[in-house]
Amino acid sequence: MAKRDYYEVLGIEKGASEDEIKKAYRKLAKKYHPDINKAPDAEEKFKEVNEAYEVLSDPQKRSAYDQFGFAGMDGANSYGGFNGSSGFGGFEDINDIFSSFMGGGFSGFNFGGQSSRRNTGPIKGENRYMEMNIDFLDAVHGVDKVVNLTVDEKCPHCNGSGAASPSDIETCPTCKGSGRVVRQTRTAFGVMQQTAACPDCRGTGKHIKKICPYCKGEGYLRKKEEVEVSIPEGINSGQQVRLAGYGERGENGGPNGDLYIEVNVRPHKYFTRERNNIFIKVPISAVDATLGCKVDVPTCHGDVEVNIPAGTQPGQQLRLKGYGVKDLRTSAMGDQFVEVQVTIPTKLSREEKELYQKLSGKTGKKMSVFEKFKQEFK
Ligand SMILES: [Zn+2]
Ligand SMILES: [Zn+2]
Repeated sequence: MAKRDYYEVLGIEKGASEDEIKKAYRKLAKKYHPDINKAPDAEEKFKEVNEAYEVLSDPQKRSAYDQFGFAGMDGANSYGGFNGSSGFGGFEDINDIFSSFMGGGFSGFNFGGQSSRRNTGPIKGENRYMEMNIDFLDAVHGVDKVVNLTVDEKCPHCNGSGAASPSDIETCPTCKGSGRVVRQTRTAFGVMQQTAACPDCRGTGKHIKKICPYCKGEGYLRKKEEVEVSIPEGINSGQQVRLAGYGERGENGGPNGDLYIEVNVRPHKYFTRERNNIFIKVPISAVDATLGCKVDVPTCHGDVEVNIPAGTQPGQQLRLKGYGVKDLRTSAMGDQFVEVQVTIPTKLSREEKELYQKLSGKTGKKMSVFEKFKQEFK
């Protein structure tokens, strides 16, 4: 079955608010819940609705989906050619299982001291955010930019363990490898168990006999890198490009977080943009607007010859279909709208003046527009 657009699945607009998404999801989840709906395709629909909600309710996933469609959803790198999460795919699940196990046993109480956050498993690093200013036409056409980044890379000599050799890694004797110690505390509610990260191994569960000389036991190396960022065609202000693996360092051998670059598009002198449509105002003389003419109108994709029909009014808009901006998700092209600005001359040559005077006095037997207007008041 071909995947349907997530917005379509939930029956909402692309710009829907968090509230609207929630509402639409609740309605559909109820409708298709397999316990309620016995139709043969109900379960399939229920899954589809849940998947759409999972992405659209998460601002980061939603932004990735808005930019890259389903390609942005595969969890792997969607941009930049660097895959920071290779080899760590399964670990987040282990953490999740671990945390639910931890949460179950300790009722969420925190008795101070060491917090009970999960420490032993690999943890993905935090995401980083930065802004980038780009030119209007670069946003329309897409552009490659080079940014200087500092990134912590897993030390290749010790594979992030911080040990000189694998035989230098021992199980921590204090916590026997669990990374945490459990203490019993008497409280008014009875005996409560309290866990804390092991003080000897700082929660890693490992004791290192001899540290790696390259990273000095840190497990990572700080590197400065020139990274090429591909800004996709059609991006707009406020949208983000993700560079997987360029976020903060992961913990306990976990992968780095991601870097999100938010784009800020500089205004153009003549073009303006609304979603995927481009707008431009083109000045035309009163005579050309009256008689009609052909003009070469600038677009983001080069000049286009436009026929201004006779009798074109000031402010009238002409549409150039397909001369707008490519949609990031659907690749459909927006349009360009040309607003005709009829300009009235402020200086006339003697010859021109005579011609205008002729026009003004001799419109035959017809009333002037102003005379017609005044008649309405009589
Ligand atoms: Zn320990
Ligand atoms: Zn090392």
